[in-house]
Amino acid sequence: MSQSYDVVIIGGGPAGYTAGLYSARSGFTTAIVEKLSPGGQMATTSVDNYPGFPETIDGFELGEKMQQGAERFGAKTFFATVSSVDLKSDPKVLETSSGPIQAKVVIIATGANPRHLGLPREENMSGKGVAYCATCDGRMFKDKVVAVNGGGNSAVEDAIYLAKICKKVYLVHRRDKLRATPVYWDSLKKNGVEIVWNSTVKGILGDSKVTGVELENVKTGATSELSVDGLFVAIGRKPESSLFAGQLDMDKAGYIIAGEDTKTSLPGVYAAGDVRTKAFRQIITAASDGANAVHSAEEILMK
Ligand code: NAP
Repeated sequence: MSQSYDVVIIGGGPAGYTAGLYSARSGFTTAIVEKLSPGGQMATTSVDNYPGFPETIDGFELGEKMQQGAERFGAKTFFATVSSVDLKSDPKVLETSSGPIQAKVVIIATGANPRHLGLPREENMSGKGVAYCATCDGRMFKDKVVAVNGGGNSAVEDAIYLAKICKKVYLVHRRDKLRATPVYWDSLKKNGVEIVWNSTVKGILGDSKVTGVELENVKTGATSELSVDGLFVAIGRKPESSLFAGQLDMDKAGYIIAGEDTKTSLPGVYAAGDVRTKAFRQIITAASDGANAVHSAEEILMK
Protein backbone atom coordinates (compact mmCIF):
# COMPACT_ATOMS: atom_id res chain seq x y z
CA MET A 1 0.00 0.00 0.00
CA SER A 2 1.22 3.48 -0.87
CA GLN A 3 2.46 5.68 1.96
CA SER A 4 1.60 9.34 1.97
CA TYR A 5 3.54 12.34 3.34
CA ASP A 6 3.29 16.11 3.24
CA VAL A 7 6.94 16.37 2.22
CA VAL A 8 9.13 13.77 0.56
CA ILE A 9 12.80 14.58 0.20
CA ILE A 10 14.96 12.66 -2.25
CA GLY A 11 18.55 12.48 -1.02
CA GLY A 12 19.94 12.34 2.51
CA GLY A 13 22.87 14.76 2.31
CA PRO A 14 23.09 18.12 4.10
CA ALA A 15 20.39 19.69 1.90
CA GLY A 16 18.06 16.72 2.36
CA TYR A 17 18.42 16.36 6.11
CA THR A 18 18.22 20.10 6.72
CA ALA A 19 14.98 20.14 4.73
CA GLY A 20 13.89 17.12 6.79
CA LEU A 21 14.66 18.91 10.03
CA TYR A 22 12.83 22.12 9.08
CA SER A 23 9.87 20.23 7.65
CA ALA A 24 9.39 17.79 10.54
CA ARG A 25 9.98 20.50 13.13
CA SER A 26 7.23 22.55 11.46
CA GLY A 27 4.86 19.64 11.98
CA PHE A 28 4.68 18.34 8.40
CA THR A 29 4.78 14.60 7.89
CA THR A 30 8.19 14.08 6.32
CA ALA A 31 10.06 11.28 4.61
CA ILE A 32 13.62 11.23 3.31
CA VAL A 33 14.50 8.66 0.67
CA GLU A 34 18.23 7.94 0.61
CA LYS A 35 19.79 5.23 -1.52
CA LEU A 36 22.97 4.58 0.46
CA SER A 37 23.81 6.25 3.78
CA PRO A 38 23.21 9.67 5.30
CA GLY A 39 25.64 12.43 4.40
CA GLY A 40 25.82 12.27 0.62
CA GLN A 41 29.15 13.43 -0.82
CA MET A 42 30.43 14.60 2.56
CA ALA A 43 30.22 11.05 3.96
CA THR A 44 33.44 10.22 2.12
CA THR A 45 35.50 13.07 3.48
CA SER A 46 36.59 14.97 6.59
CA VAL A 47 34.94 18.29 7.26
CA ASP A 48 36.53 21.32 8.88
CA ASN A 49 34.55 24.09 7.20
CA TYR A 50 31.16 23.51 8.79
CA PRO A 51 30.57 25.79 11.76
CA GLY A 52 30.03 24.48 15.26
CA PHE A 53 32.76 21.86 15.19
CA PRO A 54 36.05 23.21 16.56
CA GLU A 55 37.84 20.00 15.52
CA THR A 56 37.67 18.36 12.10
CA ILE A 57 34.60 16.14 11.96
CA ASP A 58 34.23 12.95 9.98
CA GLY A 59 31.73 13.61 7.17
CA PHE A 60 29.93 10.32 7.75
CA GLU A 61 29.47 11.20 11.42
CA LEU A 62 28.18 14.66 10.49
CA GLY A 63 25.70 13.01 8.12
CA GLU A 64 24.48 10.74 10.92
CA LYS A 65 24.08 13.72 13.24
CA MET A 66 22.02 15.53 10.59
CA GLN A 67 19.86 12.42 10.20
CA GLN A 68 19.35 12.18 13.97
CA GLY A 69 18.49 15.89 14.12
CA ALA A 70 15.70 15.47 11.57
CA GLU A 71 14.45 12.16 12.99
CA ARG A 72 14.23 13.67 16.46
CA PHE A 73 11.24 15.66 15.15
CA GLY A 74 9.65 12.68 13.45
CA ALA A 75 11.15 12.63 9.94
CA LYS A 76 11.34 9.08 8.59
CA THR A 77 14.21 7.77 6.50
CA PHE A 78 13.65 5.17 3.80
CA PHE A 79 16.87 3.55 2.64
CA ALA A 80 15.60 2.91 -0.85
CA THR A 81 16.27 3.72 -4.48
CA VAL A 82 13.83 5.91 -6.37
CA SER A 83 13.19 4.35 -9.77
CA SER A 84 10.72 6.87 -11.20
CA VAL A 85 8.79 9.98 -10.24
CA ASP A 86 5.60 11.64 -11.40
CA LEU A 87 6.05 15.25 -10.33
CA LYS A 88 3.07 16.59 -12.28
CA SER A 89 0.37 14.49 -10.62
CA ASP A 90 -1.44 15.57 -7.45
CA PRO A 91 -0.31 14.11 -5.11
CA LYS A 92 3.13 13.51 -6.59
CA VAL A 93 4.17 9.86 -6.79
CA LEU A 94 7.58 8.25 -6.31
CA GLU A 95 8.19 4.62 -7.17
CA THR A 96 10.88 3.29 -4.84
CA SER A 97 12.45 -0.03 -3.94
CA SER A 98 10.39 0.22 -0.71
CA GLY A 99 7.16 0.69 -2.64
CA PRO A 100 5.28 3.77 -3.88
CA ILE A 101 5.29 6.97 -1.83
CA GLN A 102 2.94 9.91 -2.34
CA ALA A 103 3.78 13.50 -1.51
CA LYS A 104 2.16 16.93 -1.53
CA VAL A 105 5.60 18.43 -1.98
CA VAL A 106 8.86 16.96 -3.29
CA ILE A 107 12.26 18.38 -2.41
CA ILE A 108 15.03 17.10 -4.68
CA ALA A 109 18.36 16.99 -2.86
CA THR A 110 20.17 14.37 -4.91
CA GLY A 111 23.43 16.31 -5.17
CA ALA A 112 26.18 16.16 -7.74
CA ASN A 113 29.27 14.06 -8.04
CA PRO A 114 32.70 15.14 -9.19
CA ARG A 115 33.61 13.83 -12.61
CA HIS A 116 36.44 11.34 -12.45
CA LEU A 117 39.28 11.05 -14.93
CA GLY A 118 38.58 7.37 -15.52
CA LEU A 119 42.17 6.26 -14.91
CA PRO A 120 42.64 2.60 -14.02
CA ARG A 121 43.93 3.18 -10.44
CA GLU A 122 41.94 6.32 -9.72
CA GLU A 123 39.24 4.79 -7.50
CA ASN A 124 41.86 2.80 -5.59
CA MET A 125 43.95 5.86 -4.84
CA SER A 126 41.02 8.04 -3.82
CA GLY A 127 41.71 9.07 -0.24
CA LYS A 128 45.36 8.04 -0.66
CA GLY A 129 46.35 11.23 -2.44
CA VAL A 130 43.66 11.50 -5.10
CA ALA A 131 41.02 14.01 -4.05
CA TYR A 132 38.09 15.85 -5.56
CA CYS A 133 37.46 18.74 -3.17
CA ALA A 134 40.19 21.19 -2.18
CA THR A 135 38.20 22.92 0.55
CA CYS A 136 37.39 19.51 2.09
CA ASP A 137 40.73 17.75 1.78
CA GLY A 138 43.29 20.51 1.23
CA ARG A 139 44.44 20.61 4.86
CA MET A 140 45.74 17.07 4.56
CA PHE A 141 48.33 18.37 2.08
CA LYS A 142 49.74 21.14 4.25
CA ASP A 143 53.32 21.94 3.14
CA LYS A 144 53.16 19.23 0.47
CA VAL A 145 53.32 19.33 -3.31
CA VAL A 146 50.09 18.82 -5.25
CA ALA A 147 48.75 18.96 -8.77
CA VAL A 148 45.29 20.20 -9.68
CA ASN A 149 43.85 18.88 -12.94
CA GLY A 150 41.44 21.09 -14.89
CA GLY A 151 41.25 24.59 -16.30
CA GLY A 152 37.81 25.83 -15.22
CA ASN A 153 36.80 28.06 -12.33
CA SER A 154 36.76 25.17 -9.88
CA ALA A 155 40.28 24.02 -10.76
CA VAL A 156 41.67 27.53 -10.59
CA GLU A 157 39.91 28.34 -7.32
CA ASP A 158 41.19 25.04 -5.92
CA ALA A 159 44.74 25.81 -7.06
CA ILE A 160 44.68 29.26 -5.44
CA TYR A 161 43.17 27.84 -2.24
CA LEU A 162 45.77 25.06 -2.09
CA ALA A 163 48.65 27.45 -2.84
CA LYS A 164 48.01 29.09 0.52
CA ILE A 165 48.38 25.71 2.29
CA CYS A 166 50.78 23.65 0.19
CA LYS A 167 54.47 24.00 -0.53
CA LYS A 168 53.91 23.93 -4.28
CA VAL A 169 50.90 23.69 -6.59
CA TYR A 170 50.89 22.70 -10.24
CA LEU A 171 47.81 23.30 -12.39
CA VAL A 172 47.66 20.72 -15.17
CA HIS A 173 45.42 21.81 -18.04
CA ARG A 174 44.80 20.07 -21.34
CA ARG A 175 44.84 23.26 -23.43
CA ASP A 176 46.96 26.41 -23.73
CA LYS A 177 44.20 28.69 -22.45
CA LEU A 178 42.24 28.52 -19.23
CA ARG A 179 38.47 28.18 -19.30
CA ALA A 180 38.37 29.99 -15.93
CA THR A 181 37.35 33.63 -15.96
CA PRO A 182 40.31 36.06 -16.33
CA VAL A 183 39.65 37.55 -12.90
CA TYR A 184 41.59 34.60 -11.43
CA TRP A 185 44.62 34.66 -13.69
CA ASP A 186 46.55 37.29 -11.78
CA SER A 187 45.85 35.53 -8.51
CA LEU A 188 47.27 32.28 -9.86
CA LYS A 189 50.52 34.07 -10.65
CA LYS A 190 50.65 35.94 -7.34
CA ASN A 191 50.18 32.68 -5.44
CA GLY A 192 52.99 30.98 -7.35
CA VAL A 193 50.84 28.33 -9.05
CA GLU A 194 52.83 26.75 -11.90
CA ILE A 195 50.68 25.92 -14.91
CA VAL A 196 51.51 22.84 -16.96
CA TRP A 197 49.86 23.62 -20.30
CA ASN A 198 48.61 21.23 -22.98
CA SER A 199 48.84 18.25 -20.68
CA THR A 200 46.62 15.48 -19.43
CA VAL A 201 47.09 13.12 -16.51
CA LYS A 202 47.65 9.65 -17.94
CA GLY A 203 48.56 7.74 -14.80
CA ILE A 204 48.84 7.87 -11.02
CA LEU A 205 52.15 6.85 -9.48
CA GLY A 206 52.67 5.28 -6.06
CA ASP A 207 51.41 2.10 -4.40
CA SER A 208 49.92 2.83 -0.99
CA LYS A 209 49.87 6.61 -1.57
CA VAL A 210 50.33 8.99 -4.47
CA THR A 211 53.96 9.83 -5.21
CA GLY A 212 53.45 11.45 -8.59
CA VAL A 213 51.49 11.61 -11.81
CA GLU A 214 52.31 10.65 -15.36
CA LEU A 215 51.59 13.45 -17.81
CA GLU A 216 51.18 13.46 -21.56
CA ASN A 217 51.71 16.55 -23.66
CA VAL A 218 48.72 16.55 -26.03
CA LYS A 219 50.64 18.49 -28.73
CA THR A 220 53.81 16.40 -28.83
CA GLY A 221 52.66 13.13 -27.31
CA ALA A 222 55.68 13.27 -24.98
CA THR A 223 55.18 11.75 -21.55
CA SER A 224 56.77 12.89 -18.30
CA GLU A 225 56.51 12.29 -14.57
CA LEU A 226 55.68 14.96 -12.02
CA SER A 227 56.46 14.23 -8.37
CA VAL A 228 53.48 15.20 -6.22
CA ASP A 229 51.91 14.06 -2.94
CA GLY A 230 48.39 14.69 -4.14
CA LEU A 231 46.24 15.02 -7.22
CA PHE A 232 43.10 17.15 -7.07
CA VAL A 233 40.77 16.31 -9.93
CA ALA A 234 38.61 19.34 -10.81
CA ILE A 235 37.26 18.61 -14.27
CA GLY A 236 33.62 19.43 -13.58
CA ARG A 237 30.69 17.83 -11.79
CA LYS A 238 27.78 15.73 -12.83
CA PRO A 239 24.44 16.46 -11.17
CA GLU A 240 22.25 13.53 -10.12
CA SER A 241 19.24 14.73 -12.05
CA SER A 242 18.54 12.18 -14.79
CA LEU A 243 15.49 10.86 -12.89
CA PHE A 244 13.76 14.20 -13.45
CA ALA A 245 14.64 14.71 -17.11
CA GLY A 246 11.66 15.83 -19.17
CA GLN A 247 9.73 17.01 -16.10
CA LEU A 248 11.85 19.90 -14.83
CA ASP A 249 13.78 22.67 -16.58
CA MET A 250 17.53 22.05 -16.45
CA ASP A 251 20.58 23.83 -17.79
CA LYS A 252 22.73 22.17 -20.41
CA ALA A 253 24.95 20.51 -17.79
CA GLY A 254 21.86 18.89 -16.20
CA TYR A 255 21.55 21.12 -13.12
CA ILE A 256 17.91 21.77 -12.16
CA ILE A 257 17.17 25.44 -12.72
CA ALA A 258 16.23 27.01 -9.38
CA GLY A 259 17.20 30.16 -7.51
CA GLU A 260 17.81 30.79 -3.81
CA ASP A 261 14.15 30.03 -3.13
CA THR A 262 14.81 26.55 -4.63
CA LYS A 263 11.59 26.72 -6.71
CA THR A 264 11.77 24.67 -9.89
CA SER A 265 9.68 24.93 -13.05
CA LEU A 266 6.93 22.82 -11.40
CA PRO A 267 4.82 23.96 -8.45
CA GLY A 268 5.43 21.94 -5.31
CA VAL A 269 8.84 20.73 -6.49
CA TYR A 270 12.00 22.25 -5.04
CA ALA A 271 15.69 21.63 -5.80
CA ALA A 272 18.09 22.05 -2.89
CA GLY A 273 21.86 21.73 -2.70
CA ASP A 274 24.37 20.77 -5.37
CA VAL A 275 21.71 19.55 -7.83
CA ARG A 276 20.46 23.08 -8.51
CA THR A 277 22.03 25.89 -10.50
CA LYS A 278 24.21 27.88 -8.10
CA ALA A 279 27.65 29.45 -7.81
CA PHE A 280 29.06 27.86 -4.65
CA ARG A 281 28.49 24.23 -3.79
CA GLN A 282 29.39 23.56 -0.16
CA ILE A 283 27.88 21.68 2.79
CA ILE A 284 26.73 24.93 4.33
CA THR A 285 25.13 26.27 1.14
CA ALA A 286 23.35 22.92 0.69
CA ALA A 287 22.06 23.07 4.26
CA SER A 288 20.87 26.61 3.64
CA ASP A 289 18.97 25.44 0.56
CA GLY A 290 17.25 22.75 2.62
CA ALA A 291 15.86 25.38 4.98
CA ASN A 292 14.84 27.65 2.08
CA ALA A 293 13.07 24.78 0.30
CA VAL A 294 10.78 24.16 3.27
CA HIS A 295 10.17 27.88 3.67
CA SER A 296 9.15 28.07 -0.02
CA ALA A 297 7.02 24.92 0.25
CA GLU A 298 4.99 26.36 3.12
CA GLU A 299 2.91 28.36 0.65
CA ILE A 300 1.60 25.05 -0.70
CA LEU A 301 1.59 23.09 2.57
CA MET A 302 -0.30 25.75 4.50
CA LYS A 303 -3.14 25.97 1.93
P1 NAP B 1 34.05 23.46 -16.03
O1 NAP B 1 33.88 24.93 -16.11
O2 NAP B 1 33.23 22.59 -16.92
O3 NAP B 1 35.59 23.17 -16.31
C1 NAP B 1 36.07 21.88 -16.40
C2 NAP B 1 37.55 21.96 -16.76
O4 NAP B 1 38.05 20.63 -16.77
C3 NAP B 1 37.80 22.56 -18.15
O5 NAP B 1 38.95 23.36 -18.10
C4 NAP B 1 38.02 21.33 -19.02
O6 NAP B 1 38.95 21.55 -20.05
C5 NAP B 1 38.64 20.36 -18.04
N1 NAP B 1 38.33 18.97 -18.38
C6 NAP B 1 37.11 18.42 -18.61
N2 NAP B 1 37.23 17.10 -18.83
C7 NAP B 1 38.55 16.82 -18.74
C8 NAP B 1 39.31 15.63 -18.86
N3 NAP B 1 38.73 14.47 -19.10
N4 NAP B 1 40.64 15.72 -18.69
C9 NAP B 1 41.23 16.89 -18.41
N5 NAP B 1 40.58 18.05 -18.29
C10 NAP B 1 39.25 18.01 -18.45
O7 NAP B 1 33.79 22.88 -14.55
P2 NAP B 1 34.00 23.59 -13.14
O8 NAP B 1 35.30 24.31 -13.09
O9 NAP B 1 33.73 22.54 -12.12
O10 NAP B 1 32.83 24.65 -13.08
C11 NAP B 1 31.48 24.23 -13.26
C12 NAP B 1 30.58 25.47 -13.32
O11 NAP B 1 30.57 26.10 -12.05
C13 NAP B 1 31.07 26.48 -14.32
O12 NAP B 1 29.98 27.12 -14.90
C14 NAP B 1 31.85 27.43 -13.47
O13 NAP B 1 31.95 28.74 -14.03
C15 NAP B 1 31.02 27.43 -12.20
N6 NAP B 1 31.86 27.80 -11.07
C16 NAP B 1 31.77 29.10 -10.65
C17 NAP B 1 32.55 29.52 -9.61
C18 NAP B 1 32.44 30.93 -9.18
O14 NAP B 1 31.73 31.69 -9.83
N7 NAP B 1 33.11 31.34 -8.11
C19 NAP B 1 33.43 28.64 -9.00
C20 NAP B 1 33.53 27.33 -9.46
C21 NAP B 1 32.72 26.93 -10.51
P3 NAP B 1 38.58 22.48 -21.31
O15 NAP B 1 38.66 23.89 -20.81
O16 NAP B 1 39.63 22.14 -22.30
O17 NAP B 1 37.21 22.08 -21.73
